[in-house]
Amino acid sequence: MVDTSTLHTGLFIGGQWRSSKETFTTRNPSTGQPLAELASADAYDVDAAVAAATEAFNGEWGRMAPSNKGLLLNTLANLVERDCDRLAELESADMGRPLGQSTAMMIPNLVSTLRYYAGWADKINGDYIANDGYMGATTHAYTRRDPLGVVAAIVPWNAPLMILGWKLAPALACGNTIIVKPAEDASLSILRFAELVTEAGFPAGTVNVLTGVGKVAGEALSLHPGIKKISFTGSTAVGRTILRDSASNFKRTALELGGKAPQIIFDDADLSAAIHGCAMGLFANQGEVCAAGTRIFAHRSVFDAVVDGMKHAAEAQVLGDPFDSATTMGPLVNEKHRDRVVGFITQGKSEGAEVITGGSAPDRAGFFVQPTVMSGHNDMSLARQEIFGPVGIIVPFDTDDEAVALANDNEYGLSATIWTSSVSRAHLISAQIDAGAIAVNGWSPLAPQLPWGGVKASGIGRELGYEGILSYTEPKTITIIL
Ligand code: NAD
Repeated sequence: MVDTSTLHTGLFIGGQWRSSKETFTTRNPSTGQPLAELASADAYDVDAAVAAATEAFNGEWGRMAPSNKGLLLNTLANLVERDCDRLAELESADMGRPLGQSTAMMIPNLVSTLRYYAGWADKINGDYIANDGYMGATTHAYTRRDPLGVVAAIVPWNAPLMILGWKLAPALACGNTIIVKPAEDASLSILRFAELVTEAGFPAGTVNVLTGVGKVAGEALSLHPGIKKISFTGSTAVGRTILRDSASNFKRTALELGGKAPQIIFDDADLSAAIHGCAMGLFANQGEVCAAGTRIFAHRSVFDAVVDGMKHAAEAQVLGDPFDSATTMGPLVNEKHRDRVVGFITQGKSEGAEVITGGSAPDRAGFFVQPTVMSGHNDMSLARQEIFGPVGIIVPFDTDDEAVALANDNEYGLSATIWTSSVSRAHLISAQIDAGAIAVNGWSPLAPQLPWGGVKASGIGRELGYEGILSYTEPKTITIIL
């Protein structure tokens, strides 16, 4: 059992830990037992956080030299690296991911994102702009890239610290201050991160953390006139609400929403690599991944081999306690979500999908679902809706055009994977897929340098890379008539 007794569980506002009127209980998804009692921010707490973040923006943080901002981000990265085990332990206990995946992938991703953007902090430039002059006079025109002000990050439960880093690191590198709203089901690692923000020496109010309920704290952030941008990662339904609420003061929004990623296996693919990669894309993080490759389109000539390979890969998964080193797949985040995922499997069966392996929730404590592979066609609900669990469907195709049409026939467009040994096919098919990120011969590479985000119902905007810098700055054009 992870020890949460030494963790601050209040609201982190203006560098202080405060209590709230209401609290809520988080549960351990492996056992269903209570894990921690957390503060639940209301609209007044949001006002206080906006006031603290505004004061920091207009004060010490706003005046700090860009290179010193970079130094603080690097210091924070070092502290996260030092505390990797503790942060991983809190996050895995909270949301169910095997501890080894948190330690080896999630926390290191946060460290590299902080370091990548630390390097940007003193390299954010505008442009000199040549132009035709003004009423016969010569002009000197240029742009500045100014910070936006106070921004808010609303974070999901499936990868709390990693996704927080994608928002917080570029926001701070550009000189903004930030208010973070973790998800109800996974706040603990972010609370520990807030303690590290203080230890690193950030001025009070630069980073604020409000645990709480989406409909209360999240909505108050989206509606608040003092916030200039909401960066949201979460469901498409909540993304729509945030877009509407943000219209109140024309906030910028970055919406990283759901996905239903295709993985296309062509007849010239390295089949063993493709099956290994598809299994990773389906089962990593219990399938609770926006980029999960849940629609596997296999060329008819390799369909039977893919079905067989995926069956073996699913049956090789070890379901269990995230803290047991033999476990490769933990529980889903909560009971409601477990029941929702099982509901999709039941609906798939009733629509005629064939169960290749898995297909139910095991009879044990905790919110587990068997790794499940089914076969069927692209019109089944299994292939249309985001399930966000370890459930995939395999569908055969005959031609390249059919594979592209199947891949694009979905409301989402976050990411896709193509498995082929043909360089020409890799480029030609990549260009035709409607998605924000395409991987060839590997599932969903993530690096701070690579822009990430979707099209269609998968959202608006890009995080990471230089796109991240552009998205947290306001260009201002200055024209001097000489
Ligand atoms: P969710 O939309 O239920 O919640 C996400 C966050 O929004 C939480 O912090 C929640 O408290 C908050 N929220 C809820 N209602 C709100 C409201 N009315 N106003 C403001 N905030 C509100 O999503 P989730 O269940 O936590 O996460 C799963 C979803 O996230 C999946 O759809 C998944 O695809 C998506 N996701 C997308 C990406 C990406 O990069 N595109 C990455 C990870 C997860």
